Amino acid sequence: CGIIGYAGTKNAHGVLIDGLKALEYRGYDSSGLAVFTQGKINTVKAQGKIKNLEALLKEDIGTCGIAHTRWATHGEANVVNAHPHTIGMVTLVHNGIIENADELRQTYQQKGIIFVSNTDTETAAALLNDFVSQGMNKIDACLRAGKYLKGSYALAILFADEPETIYAMRKDSPLILGLSDDGNYVASDVSAFLKATNKILELEEHEVVRLTRSQVEIFNQQGKAERDWHTSCRELS
Ligand code: GLU
Repeated sequence: CGIIGYAGTKNAHGVLIDGLKALEYRGYDSSGLAVFTQGKINTVKAQGKIKNLEALLKEDIGTCGIAHTRWATHGEANVVNAHPHTIGMVTLVHNGIIENADELRQTYQQKGIIFVSNTDTETAAALLNDFVSQGMNKIDACLRAGKYLKGSYALAILFADEPETIYAMRKDSPLILGLSDDGNYVASDVSAFLKATNKILELEEHEVVRLTRSQVEIFNQQGKAERDWHTSCRELS
């Protein structure tokens, strides 16, 4: 039910856990995070309170990752169904409901993809992994996935071969960027990063964003980098 992603200079575990705690009021049944540590994605998930997730974390020097509090819609509230979900190259967190998940699941099961959870979310990972495996660039893969996914989604995505980078996209679920000299944030709600920055940019429907610690690029549905983040952002008073 809440998403926070961060690419920056600070310790990602600390930033992500603080962000999740700020999103707690939205309600949730489980939580999880994935961080790039020396180029590899490290995922940790827990049922119940965020302190259960915190208790599982080992010291980590990573400075880029994504995190999630889940309010289950598809599949019971357990650790396997908690986000992030990984298929192949793709690790992601999701808010919303993918309405054609059953259909997508069947299609990919026939192609030999093994799903480990009962979530609708995992089908988005299967789609994206399919497209990048075909050699498509990541922005095009995100835009293409957007054409197949029915329902609502806010997605924050890591690709295994592109460390220190977060992709995000949305439809009918909010995603807001937070911009700062110490790094850039993406979250379902400004409260997740408001302590660090009040410089925000609201992602629009169907836009795809790529963010690193020093750069934010926003692409429209035609794959063009149209909006400049320096001029599109605003400061909350
Ligand atoms: N539909 C997804 C699930 O059940 C995401 C729910 C959420 O927004 O937390 O896992």
